[in-house]
Amino acid sequence: MDLFEYQGKQYFAQYDIPVSPGDVATTVDEAVSAADGAGYPVVVKAQVQVGGRGKAGGIKLAGDADEVRNHAGNILGMDIKGHTVERVWIEQASDIDEEYYASFTLDRAAKAHLLMLSAKGGIDIEEVAATDPDAIVRLHVDPVAGLPAHELAVAVAAAEIPERARAGVVGILTKLYRCYTEGDCDLAEINPLILKPTGEVHALDAKVTLDGNAAFRHPEWERFAGTEVLDDRERLAKEKGLQYIGLDGSVGIIANGAGLAMSTLDVVNQVGGDAANFLDIGGGANADVMAAALEVINTDENVRSIFINIFGGITRGEEVGRGIVEALRRVEIRAPIVIRLDGTNAEEGRQIILDADIAADRLVSKPTMLEAAKTAVAMARGN
Ligand code: GDP
Ligand code: MN
Repeated sequence: MDLFEYQGKQYFAQYDIPVSPGDVATTVDEAVSAADGAGYPVVVKAQVQVGGRGKAGGIKLAGDADEVRNHAGNILGMDIKGHTVERVWIEQASDIDEEYYASFTLDRAAKAHLLMLSAKGGIDIEEVAATDPDAIVRLHVDPVAGLPAHELAVAVAAAEIPERARAGVVGILTKLYRCYTEGDCDLAEINPLILKPTGEVHALDAKVTLDGNAAFRHPEWERFAGTEVLDDRERLAKEKGLQYIGLDGSVGIIANGAGLAMSTLDVVNQVGGDAANFLDIGGGANADVMAAALEVINTDENVRSIFINIFGGITRGEEVGRGIVEALRRVEIRAPIVIRLDGTNAEEGRQIILDADIAADRLVSKPTMLEAAKTAVAMARGN
């Protein structure tokens, strides 16, 4: 789950990472009272889950209430890269001497956490990464051993963070690592991490992605749920308790088991198609779950064909077959379906599907995953 900047800052504050005082506002009047509370000058910041707000005109300094009124009026409702600004965050403005970049994320290939740190932070960090990659120091962190202070000190020196900022940066990175690990983040990024003229180091922006699988450990995340940005498909899937991730392709996918679902995406890709989603219906492929899965895929206007890939284990083939037939009676599906059913009692399951009164061009059964994928991709192309 991605957080808005203001929520990321609230999360940082729980781990003692210094952020500016401020408040969130959805109207111009609220923005002015938030600014009065924070103390002038303030900065008015568009809250959208996309980078480059500064360059898009979504971040403005304001010296008094009139300027807040003006900027908040312009920014609220503004479109930034397809995201409409519904909220602004108003915080006390900071004086900035320098802007750094710091983040922790997971490097899956290295099986370790990764710290990235640069003295060249700010709105051009992408350009720094492209043209001057050595200006970004990378430090892998063994999740068991943790982050030893001496390694952190070496990284901070290697990043050429100036002497007077080093203690402050080390202090914040230590807290940020705790926030990232104990706080179960997939990403905790501060850009810019600023050095103030006073010598204090401070988080001026926050980009936090929480690991949804850890939600059971964090009842306090409940307060972020109301503002979670989901597309219609993802919202419905969540309501129905399905493991669903929306993608951009045209082949809808339903599989049982996360591993099989991922392989299904790969096979569709291998035969030249693009998956519209990841959807794992788990162990029980009964009619309710199947109908819910088909309903979610049905809301996706890009879907041209649906590939149901089920390997019967504990769930037996005839249950799956009955589930699909029953689900098709309940939900009117826009796209044709290709099914590959294998495993326990697959034969019986396929027979149930064959015997059902469903037009052959709406539901096709194929014996292998590869053939089913090819058929689904051909159907998606309209062949
Ligand atoms: P982003 O463009 O979406 O990453 O938004 P940021 O929150 O990172 O802000 C972009 C830039 O605006 C920062 O790099 C700063 O240069 C500037 N900025 C943001 N807040 C302040 C502030 O309080 N004071 C000053 N002087 N500049 C700020
Ligand atoms: Mn930023």
